[in-house]
Amino acid sequence: MTVTGWRAPLNIVVLAVALVAGSLLVSGPRRTSSPLLIAHRDGEQVLIQGASLVLTMDPKVGEGPLGLLHDADVLLKGDRIAAVGTGLRDRGYIRVVDARGKIVMPGFVDLHTHLWQSLIRGCGTDQELNGWLAACVAPLFRSPVSSEDAYAGVRLSTLDEITTGTTTVVDFSHAFNAGFARGNLKALIDSGLRFVFAYYARNDPAVFDEIRRVKREVIDPDPLARLQVGSHPSMAMVKDLAAADALARELGVALNVHLAESPADRAQGQMAALRQAGALRPGLLADHGVHLTDAELDELAGDGVGIAHNPLSNLRLASGVARLPEMHARHIKLGLGLDGGTNDTSDMFNDMRAAVGLQRAMSYEPARYPTPADVLRMATLGGAEALGLDGETGSLTPGKQGDLQIIDPHTINFAPRVDWVSQLVFNGQPANVEWVFVDGRALKRNGRLVGADTERVLRQAQDAADRLPEFLTGARAAS
Ligand SMILES: [Zn+2]
Repeated sequence: MTVTGWRAPLNIVVLAVALVAGSLLVSGPRRTSSPLLIAHRDGEQVLIQGASLVLTMDPKVGEGPLGLLHDADVLLKGDRIAAVGTGLRDRGYIRVVDARGKIVMPGFVDLHTHLWQSLIRGCGTDQELNGWLAACVAPLFRSPVSSEDAYAGVRLSTLDEITTGTTTVVDFSHAFNAGFARGNLKALIDSGLRFVFAYYARNDPAVFDEIRRVKREVIDPDPLARLQVGSHPSMAMVKDLAAADALARELGVALNVHLAESPADRAQGQMAALRQAGALRPGLLADHGVHLTDAELDELAGDGVGIAHNPLSNLRLASGVARLPEMHARHIKLGLGLDGGTNDTSDMFNDMRAAVGLQRAMSYEPARYPTPADVLRMATLGGAEALGLDGETGSLTPGKQGDLQIIDPHTINFAPRVDWVSQLVFNGQPANVEWVFVDGRALKRNGRLVGADTERVLRQAQDAADRLPEFLTGARAAS
């Protein structure tokens, strides 16, 4: 299986699907049967017209910190947001999405996940972090888990991500072997999502060379793709961490590490290892950061380190509650992550609710950070800022890439309209996400995934999951 050239076959498939579905793509004036809504290129325009509420996340574009606009339009031209405002006219060749009664907002940035882990859903559900890792993840480093298995799990998870309105995903791949990493990457490319592939860099010259090749041949030519180098901080493996950090510097990309996720992690000397490896610097992405002291938070803030908060994972794995107000007070860049199979599903609305609810439950303070408005920002622009991608995505700012979602609040779980900003957090569900655009392309259209053979994906994921238990001895319940 080769890695290069995947984007071209995908476009052919998408084009074919679009040719069949062409006349069903949009509603409203000047509808045409051209397939170009999905396989757009130069100059294609999509007008999202008459949205009851647009959360631009840009205070310069709309009112208040979330940049709200009422009865407004968003114009996509090619892969970018051309204009946001009221009364935008359709000029020239254009498609119209009727957004009356709908909410338009940036797509979610899932700042931390392991997409292959859909294959171990239901595994080790009575375990804390280290028991779960020992039962469900660590054995796979000694297994021949294949490229096809990786593809099947990641393909399933990317569809789940699109369903919930994610437009950018950071996939920390354990890269059990080079074939696994290639299958993982192929599924990411086929998804149409904007993605950051965090390639776990085991200290092996062959792995390092493969990461260099992937960067050069796969990531760099793809405008939707970015690379990070994944590693793990501990004093026992500080040389490996330093080598991974050196590779990240060589390639000009960020390092991505799990940090202070569980109480037991403190015994690993993780902060000391990061210091000794010289890895504490702007761009470092630290996942979790649950068990950090005031002094360590000061240090991370001073070094410009971003943190991915994963509340559903922390709940499931009995990991603790991250100190979000203390991080926010120090202006640490904060985003939200789903953290893979530990969450059992990809639901960014549920993740936002958990982020808000955990702080309230711990403190008895309903106004404690994050508020619903805060968590909406964290789940979109906050994640983009932690990645250094806020110049490209995370808000509906003209000139940024066309990454957005359209939400239908006229549903039994969401209506009636009282306070839509709060309702997005407390009532939103993936089923309410009607459209998802990435880079100006529709990946979800009128509530349906575009160009995905869901039954085939489910079947292949089941086949892959059925092959894993022989490596995960005793980890799975008989049910
Ligand atoms: Zn993780």
